[in-house]
Amino acid sequence: MSDCLFCKIVAGVIPCDKLHEDDYFIAFRDISPQAPVHVLVIPKEHKASLTELEPADADMLGRLLITAGRISSELGLDEGGYRWVVNCGEDGGQSVGHLHLHILGGRQMAWPPG
Ligand code: 5GP
Ligand code: ZN
Repeated sequence: MSDCLFCKIVAGVIPCDKLHEDDYFIAFRDISPQAPVHVLVIPKEHKASLTELEPADADMLGRLLITAGRISSELGLDEGGYRWVVNCGEDGGQSVGHLHLHILGGRQMAWPPG
C-alpha cells in the first residue's frame, strides 16, 4: 500500500463520509469543510496532480468532470450554483498529493480566491 492518504481512503484503510463510488472514482465529504457543502472527488488510481496527467488520461479526466457534475446536482447545488477547485502544487495550495476535485457550495463564493 502506498503511503498516500487518499489511496488509503480508496482502500478503506482510513474511513470517510462517502457519497459516491464507482469503478473509477470515489467522492467523500472534506474533513475540514470550507463551505456548507464541501466534497472531494478523486480517481481511485493514484495520480499525484494535474501536472502528471498525459493524453492517455483524457478519458479519466472527462469522466471525473462528468461524475463531479452529477454529484453536484445530486447535492442540490444546481439552482444556487457551486464552485469546483483543483489545487496544484505548492503555490496552488495542494496539501494532499493525490489528484482531487473540490466541490464547494451552499454559500456565496468570493472572487478572486485567496
Ligand atoms: P488540497 O489542499 O490538497 O487541495 O485539498 C486536500 C483536502 O483534503 C483538504 O481540503 C483537507 O481538508 C482534506 N483532507 C485532508 N485529510 C483528510 C482526511 O483524512 N479525510 C477527509 N475526508 N478529508 C481530508
Ligand atoms: Zn494516492
